[in-house]
Amino acid sequence: MGVAVNRNRLKPSEGDGGKPPLAAARLTIDEHLPAFVEARQHYLDALPIGAAVIGIGPQGRFVECSNAVFKQLNEPLSARSRRADSLLDRNGLGERIVEFLISGDAHSDFEWQDGDAIAGRHFSVRLARLAETHISGARCMLTLLDRTAELQTAQNLRREMLSDSLTGLPNRAGFAELLEQTSTDPEQHFAVLIVDLVRFSRINECIGPMAGDELIITVARRLVHALRAGDRLARIGGDEFGVLVRLVEGPGDALHVAKRVQEVLSAPFRLTDLEIKVECSIGCALMNDGVADSEKLVRHAQFALKRAKETGKTEIYQPTAFNMARKRFSLETELRRAVEGNRLHLAFQPLIDLSNDRVAGFEALARWQDDEHGEISPTDFIPVAEESGLIVPLGRWALEAAAHTLAEWDVRAGRPLPVKISVNLSAIQLARDDVASVVSTALDGAGIAGSRFTLELTESAVIADPERAVRVLDALKELDTSIAVDDFGTGYSSLAYLQRLPLDILKIDRSFITGMLEDKNKVAIVRAILSLADALGLKTTAEGVESIELSRTLAALGCAMGQGFHYSGPLDSDAAYSYLLARNA
Ligand code: C2E
Ligand code: MG
Ligand code: MG
Repeated sequence: MGVAVNRNRLKPSEGDGGKPPLAAARLTIDEHLPAFVEARQHYLDALPIGAAVIGIGPQGRFVECSNAVFKQLNEPLSARSRRADSLLDRNGLGERIVEFLISGDAHSDFEWQDGDAIAGRHFSVRLARLAETHISGARCMLTLLDRTAELQTAQNLRREMLSDSLTGLPNRAGFAELLEQTSTDPEQHFAVLIVDLVRFSRINECIGPMAGDELIITVARRLVHALRAGDRLARIGGDEFGVLVRLVEGPGDALHVAKRVQEVLSAPFRLTDLEIKVECSIGCALMNDGVADSEKLVRHAQFALKRAKETGKTEIYQPTAFNMARKRFSLETELRRAVEGNRLHLAFQPLIDLSNDRVAGFEALARWQDDEHGEISPTDFIPVAEESGLIVPLGRWALEAAAHTLAEWDVRAGRPLPVKISVNLSAIQLARDDVASVVSTALDGAGIAGSRFTLELTESAVIADPERAVRVLDALKELDTSIAVDDFGTGYSSLAYLQRLPLDILKIDRSFITGMLEDKNKVAIVRAILSLADALGLKTTAEGVESIELSRTLAALGCAMGQGFHYSGPLDSDAAYSYLLARNA
């Protein structure tokens, strides 16, 4: 609510040369009413907080301060009368008071700092208008509430919240704030590096948490040395450091700093009687023009870090890699729906006996026809299924669907057909699922003999966990199924395993068959595989037979079976059945 003010009274009086009120001749009220002033001084002194009555009127300005004000402002009490109105000269306070007195407002509250940023004190100031008198002119009561301690506590708390107690560096929140502040300056270009210590949790377990802490502190100290002036370091996780790199020359600066980081960490760390080698992975994201979203920047750097852990090199975030991951993620969601909604189907590719050119069996291959994306290749969705664990339900489905199709063909033919069906097993499936009992259930459910089934697995399935592989394959043999090694020659089978495992067939990878007729080396490899198979008592199937010449050569070399577009690509169930009848007629 406004209070009427006689503005004329605030004008400089004649004879003071038109100076503003604060510089006006200093004539204090106590010359006129000493007893009244003294009484008022007593009231002021009795108040529990610093208070002052301030007036600016026709007779100049006057200030009466309580003792508490002197204490709060750290002024010696003896100088009181001399310094009372110096209150108005402190850090803009006088101007705020004049502004208020002119405004006509009833009161005004503001924060005010007395002194510099380091040693200064903070006050909540309240100005409350007092009634005007003829002598005083416009007046107000000022009260000072010292909030220095409160503010310092808040600042300390904030500092604590934003810093890592072990290293004293900014923590994750502190780093975010640092980035936030930096990204508001359009002139500056920055990159974010995330440095992750490789296997730190293992090291920590071995050396104990105390030594682990010491190691982190030493790493932090070395990292600080790797940085240039203006770069900033933070500890953003247990074994993760964030670096804000100033780009002066260009993006190359970020890689330069990354290299320095690798260098300073390369020398072993000596902790009491231990010598520890610490390796790190580094992911980097560049703040490009216009993109000043610091949270995004950290996310991008983290994504690059993930890649760096795979590749073993410092990686810079690239949007395409990110989009690929996103695509993969949405593929996973859709694949999950397709598996659950039973929207996959099997295609069947004939396996031809090269000695008589008849169909000896079919390989069942998963197909995904998606409404939106059309036909999606198994080379795209099988890896997604493996990574997400969906391969387990998918693999079970494939086994059951294949068994049912074979049973259905038998019913159509009115007798058990002399063909086998091959189903692919993924290494992940072998590791996670109870494959033998799943196969057994599928066979029983369809009423098919185990001898009609071949399971194809890649070399990697065996290498991952040989003990388990032996157990599972033995159990599958108990069911009388055959076992084929798929894509043979591309993995790292050791001959010892080949001998130890109950295998029946080696499927020679397509890469050796394609172009074999024009490449002596390939012929040599195929010959070698064939004689190895012979020595181990295994049959062979050549993948990717695309021409009659190939089929003849392979037959001549002693390969038992062929699979490929020369005979037929994968067919749907009905077409496969017709193909079988026609070819074996
Ligand atoms: P794979 O088991 O080696 O299957 C043979 C692949 O070679 C099939 O590709 C087939 O269409 C293709 N192919 C056959 N003959 C020829 C030929 O003459 N020329 C060429 N260029 N290609 C030929 P597809 O169907 O795309 O399957 C790719 C891979 O996906 C399979 O390789 C297999 O590893 C995997 N896969 C397919 N279905 C399943 C499944 O149900 N479970 C598992 N775990 N993996 C599956
Ligand atoms: Mg296969
Ligand atoms: Mg294959």
